[in-house]
Formats: sequence, C-alpha cells, structure tokens
Amino acid sequence: MHLFTIIFLGFVSASVLLRLWLGQRQIKHIDAHFGQVPEAFADKISLEDHQKAAAYSCANLRLGRLTLAWETSWLLIWTIGGGINAIDSGWVLAELTPLLTGIAVILTLTFASSILNLPFSLYHTFVIEERFGFNQTSLKTWALDLVKTTILMLALGVPLLAAILWLMNQAGNNWWLYAWALWMSFTLIMIWAYPVFIAPMFNKFSTLQDESLNTRIDRLLQRCGFHSESVYVVDGSRRSSHGNAYFTGFGKNKRIVFYDTLLESLSEDEVEAVLAHELGHFKRHHIKKSLLLSSLMSLCGFALLAWLMRSDWFYSSLGVELASTHTALLLFMLIMPVFAYFVSPLFSALSRKHEFEADEFAHSNSDYKALISALVNLYRDNASTLTPDPIHSMFYDSHPPASIRIENLKNMAASGPG
Ligand SMILES: [Zn+2]
Repeated sequence: MHLFTIIFLGFVSASVLLRLWLGQRQIKHIDAHFGQVPEAFADKISLEDHQKAAAYSCANLRLGRLTLAWETSWLLIWTIGGGINAIDSGWVLAELTPLLTGIAVILTLTFASSILNLPFSLYHTFVIEERFGFNQTSLKTWALDLVKTTILMLALGVPLLAAILWLMNQAGNNWWLYAWALWMSFTLIMIWAYPVFIAPMFNKFSTLQDESLNTRIDRLLQRCGFHSESVYVVDGSRRSSHGNAYFTGFGKNKRIVFYDTLLESLSEDEVEAVLAHELGHFKRHHIKKSLLLSSLMSLCGFALLAWLMRSDWFYSSLGVELASTHTALLLFMLIMPVFAYFVSPLFSALSRKHEFEADEFAHSNSDYKALISALVNLYRDNASTLTPDPIHSMFYDSHPPASIRIENLKNMAASGPG
C-alpha cells in the first residue's frame, strides 16, 4: 500500500470521527437543556419555541450523520475504490481530444455525485423543513431550480473548466499562476454579476416600498457615509420561511437585500438595527478581507495542485492508473475538503470576530436594544438553538451563540456610549 493511501485514509477516518463526536456533543448539550428556556430568554421565547428549535437542530444533526456516511463511502469508492479510474477508462475509449475527455470525465462525476446526493436534499426540504413549518417550496419549484442551476453550471462552469484544463496542459510550468488569475477574475465577475443577473433568475427583487421605513434607512445610510445604495426586498417566502438580510455585489451592483420574511417579523427599529449590522460588515472591510483570504487560499491550492500533478504517487495512491491533468484536478477537488476540514475552525473564528465587529458598528450607529430584540426574534423564527455545545459552536459556527452576542452588546452599552 502507498504511504499516501494510508495518510489519506487516516485523515478520512479522523475527520469522520471528529464530525460524529462533535455532532453527538451538540445533540447531548441540546437535550440536556430541552426542559427549560435559558434564563436570559425566558420572557421572550416560549418553552414551545425553545423545544421546537431543539428538535429542529437535532433532526438536522441526525440527517447530517447519514449524509456523512453516504458521502464518505462515495469518496472512497471514487478514489481508492477505482471509480474515477473506471469513468476515465470508459471515456478514453471514446477517443476524444484530451481536453474533451477531461471535460467529459469531470462532468460525468459531477452529475453522478449530484444525483447521489439528491435524496438527502429532497429529504431535507420536503421532510425536515416541512415538518417544522419552514418549507414553502413545491416539488415543481424545486425541480425548476434544479434545472436552472444545472444549466447555469454548464453555461458558466464548462468554459471555465475547459480554460483551466487547457492552461494545465499548455501553459508550461507556471500554468498555476495563470489559472489562479483566471479563477480570481471569474470570481470577481461572478460577485459583480450575481445580484443583477443571476439572483433574479431564482427570485423576484423589488425596491422597498414602505415609505417611513425607507426614510429611516436613508437617514441611517447617510449617517454611515453610504450614498444612494438601493435597498431591495427578495421574495424568499416563495421557498422558505427562514429570514435573512445580506449585502452583495460591488461597484454599481452593490445591493442591500432583505428577505420579505424578515421584514414581516421585525419592527422598524429592528430592521434599522439589522441593516446597521450589515453596513458594519461593509465598513469594517469584511467583504474585502474575505475575498483577499480566499484569493490567497486559492493561490496556495493551485500551487499545491501543480506540484501534486507532477507526482506519480498522487495518482496511484488514490486509485488512478493513468496520470492526466483532469484526473489530477478531479482527485484534488475530491480530497482537499478532507484536509481542509481540520483548519475550518480558524475560518469560523474569523467569521465570529467579524460578527462582533459588525455588532459593535451597529451599536455605535443604531439602537442596540433593537438589535438584541431583532436577534431574539430571528433565533426564534429560524428555530436556531439557544443552547449550542461550546466546542461544536467553536468548530462550526459562523455567528457567535445568541447569548454571547447579546451579552456582548449589553457590555458595550454598559461601557459607555459607542
Ligand atoms: Zn453579520
């Protein structure tokens, strides 16, 4: 057996065990607090809502365990089980050009994986979300979304894939620098195009019509140094009753988007505070920082791929007989997440730091009490647990637990005007 096969299997086992252990901790922690609403929320969240959040979180965690077992089995089947090798040998028989063979092999595996994961996606939407009253999608909308996503993926993904494979084959030793430049340009164009061209294919966006809310929002925007940003409402309620707000795009395509579900459940004060938090992300340069970080990560990724691609053991230890650029790319995309999982807590921690900074900004520029009550409402309406296990939260959570965020906002208020 190859040394790298053993290393790979070691990392796969360790990540599966760690995920199961963290999931089990979370379920236990939530169960232990099932009987009582945490004191800080006792007057705002009913026992019924608290227990709904607990049951919802645990249902998702249990589905997560099944998904993990399924996906890990397939990862092993594709790699050391010889799955990629079989697909590759099949397409070699078709005697296409190397570039077309590469595209065909990668598309075959991508489609196979998507089909294999469909039952889990269906179960999540039509069983779990349905049971807890979140699902608003019909099977028709769901299927239509799938078709649209597939077409979009083919239209945008195939040319990009072809260009990267071509660079890998033809651009010499420094191909990874060119591929990275191409990848970053693609990412920037997508961020720019997403709010205006792509998101509207799935949802309806309209400008906010509420006059008194608009006046307040304008005042807040001016106070924070923003000029004529458009505030949009998206009909998220067509698919799900989960609510959210986000900031998207850049340049002229910069948009602030509120879910209609969020506007329905929050008061004007609360909407203003949530918006102030979103503006905080922008003012503290979180979007730029995340982009910079992801560009550095992808640069390292391409450099690593360039090295692995030239190493015979990389193919043979992962079940591929015939070395090629497309099998290198495919193996790399399949196995990287296993290793990246172990550094994911660093990214979660950075994201939580950004949340605190955005809260601080909201505290300085709006009513922090309204932000607290908005948070409580959002936790309740999204059935997010108020009692996460601290280690599970440290590992995964992009947002700090509700109790810590609220305490932090209160502390800021206590330590004087922001
Ligand atoms: Zn945030």
